[in-house]
Amino acid sequence: MLDLAAHRKGPPSPHGRVGPVCPALTPEQIARGLERGRLQIDDGILERRCSSCGDFYPLDTEFWYFQPSKREGTHHMCKACYLGYRRRWRVRTQMTRRPT
Ligand SMILES: [Zn+2]
Repeated sequence: MLDLAAHRKGPPSPHGRVGPVCPALTPEQIARGLERGRLQIDDGILERRCSSCGDFYPLDTEFWYFQPSKREGTHHMCKACYLGYRRRWRVRTQMTRRPT
């Protein structure tokens, strides 16, 4: 298992200290994210704002699902919100499904 906390103490990259498996954002994507308030750099760590809970979390796979197909490289919700959303969705579909 990767030690993300230890990795973040490593030498800073031009994009801030980010996890080893987080999406590599271009400087343009970072600039746009910062401009629109979706990204922030806190103590040298690039963080992304969750569209669900509104909190900022370091942009790495400890907090985010990596989605290479997305323009911004991750899901728009943090892992905790996404798991809660999935759980509610599953409960709802099970309730509406007729018993077999
Ligand atoms: Zn969240």
